[in-house]
Amino acid sequence: MDTLNNRDLDNQSFIELKDISVTFKSKQGIEVNAVSNFSLKIKKGEILGIIGSSGAGKSTIARNINLLEKPSQGDVYFKGEKITNYKGKNLRQIRQKMGMIYQHFNLINRATVRDNIAFNLLASNYEKDKIDLRVDQLLDLVGLKNKKNSYPSQLSGGQKQRVAIARSLSNNPEVLICDEATSALDPETAQEIVKLIKDINSKLKLTVVFITHQMEVAKDLFDRIAVMDNGKLIEVNDSYSIFANQEKEETKLLIDKVTSLKIPKTVLKNNNKAFYQITYVGEKAYLPIISNTIKTFDVDISIIHGKIEYINDKPFGILIITISGDREKEAINYLKEYTSNFTLIQGATNE
Ligand code: ADP
Ligand code: MG
Repeated sequence: MDTLNNRDLDNQSFIELKDISVTFKSKQGIEVNAVSNFSLKIKKGEILGIIGSSGAGKSTIARNINLLEKPSQGDVYFKGEKITNYKGKNLRQIRQKMGMIYQHFNLINRATVRDNIAFNLLASNYEKDKIDLRVDQLLDLVGLKNKKNSYPSQLSGGQKQRVAIARSLSNNPEVLICDEATSALDPETAQEIVKLIKDINSKLKLTVVFITHQMEVAKDLFDRIAVMDNGKLIEVNDSYSIFANQEKEETKLLIDKVTSLKIPKTVLKNNNKAFYQITYVGEKAYLPIISNTIKTFDVDISIIHGKIEYINDKPFGILIITISGDREKEAINYLKEYTSNFTLIQGATNE
């Protein structure tokens, strides 16, 4: 095989988690399977999201990647090398290649922003006289140059997370692991951090593994999404496909939080028509599907509710409609064909 193909192969499994299981023993001696038979390849340079409800095992997997926690079973590979049993210096080197940020920032409160970052550089034997230059560079990258001498208590949540990001990047890692890094922030600040992480991913060619239960964040940030439920990996696909077409019911429940439309009960109760939900994706989102249906089948269509979401800047539309007319059935068949999903959400109540 030529070298290019070899390199391609490596990039597809930059990090590989192979048949990972993690069992904890509770204080009462009861065993908890936090993760069961989890296998996943993470590609070089991608932003991979791991989503799932609370307790699904996401944080456990995050800690397995950089071996803050060793799996009970299975192996972790980094660039083709099995690192599961690394200790001492080897383990420290691996950890330096994998920065990590957390929900609650984990800054040292009695140290300035500069020192929070400098401690990390000192720990990796960075040349002392070059530390300030490096701190300035890092703060510039996260847009916090003027906060070098502030203390964490003088910063907003978003600014604290920026410091944590700067610190995590201090040793030029190849991977950034983010565990609920936006979950303690208000939505606007969360979006700013999302933007920063995208920026860093493209500027530094950094591989990002981002764990979250926040679907709004998932919508904007991820290239690919792995879905966890009850310790298992249940579905993995590109982000858009996960939002547009879920294979598993558990995934659908998560995604519905951002995509579903709520109609007041009074409207649903007093209708004499059926309500249909349409979703349309990709190129089809641009077609005038509704007006085509009306013209072709001479039906009336009322739009009860609708919105267009953008998943990684690609449109994804959701509409709730009613249809009436003699050729209603044909219109429905047409819509079924030309939309990605067509579901009866409620039949007529007054018929
Ligand atoms: P998530 O991050 O998806 O919310 P976690 O990985 O934190 O989930 O936890 C998965 C499961 O493992 C949960 O049931 C949790 O209670 C359990 N768990 C996690 N860490 C420990 C631990 N150190 N000791 C015992 N149980 C744990
Ligand atoms: Mg967690």
